[in-house]
Amino acid sequence: MKGKRDLLKPGRIFVKEGTLMKVSRKSRQPRHLFLMNDIMLYTYPQQDGKYRLKNTLFLSGMKVSKPVLDSVLNCLRIEVSDITITLSASSVGEREDWFHTLSRAIADHAAGLCTFGGPCSEAREKLWMALGEAAPVLVPVSQVMMCMNCTSDFSLTLRRHHCNACGKVVCRACSRNRYPLKYLKDRLAKVCDKCYAELRKRGGSISGACDNSSPRTHRASRPLSAVFQSLQPPSLWKSRKSASNLSQVG
Ligand SMILES: [Zn+2]
Ligand SMILES: [Zn+2]
Repeated sequence: MKGKRDLLKPGRIFVKEGTLMKVSRKSRQPRHLFLMNDIMLYTYPQQDGKYRLKNTLFLSGMKVSKPVLDSVLNCLRIEVSDITITLSASSVGEREDWFHTLSRAIADHAAGLCTFGGPCSEAREKLWMALGEAAPVLVPVSQVMMCMNCTSDFSLTLRRHHCNACGKVVCRACSRNRYPLKYLKDRLAKVCDKCYAELRKRGGSISGACDNSSPRTHRASRPLSAVFQSLQPPSLWKSRKSASNLSQVG
């Protein structure tokens, strides 16, 4: 491939490649896409069978959609920062495959960034240490195709819910609880199961937390070691979730 940069990088995984037609007002031109788990290479296929790199698109912040356009068959639209690319697939199946594969890659990338290393891991860590004290950066709903807690696929019936503590997008079963959050002046807000368990551990019983007359008690700082000890292994809160199926949280 001409014009390639350092494509080999630890953790980079090849996902999918294929040729779609780039739609412009006057013409349709083939573009070959190489999808990795963190970037997509947007290339021109050349006569000699090689590919010339036109653009490296980052999955971070990328949006993919299926607009209905009279003039474009099987339309797939990719938007990232200020770039909008309108593509046409050769069949509905090909378009669907690209849409789902790309959506999943974008969601996996967003989830990965926020749990493992990556640009926002430091911010996430800070947020986790001070859970509920500052408004989280909400993970964009459009990027998430499955619950970031239990990985259930979202659909028309399984709707997306934001956790107001960590900002992740989770399903209803994973966001049944509310908890008073400091940055909302201790107003009750929907939180995910993981945050709920953590906030309860840190803040004591929820009845005390609901007592607005003594908000100072929540500010009592605890040594970091106590916070670490109170982190539950994921298996515990996962099983707890399935154990009960109580009130719906709108
Ligand atoms: Zn949360
Ligand atoms: Zn879930």
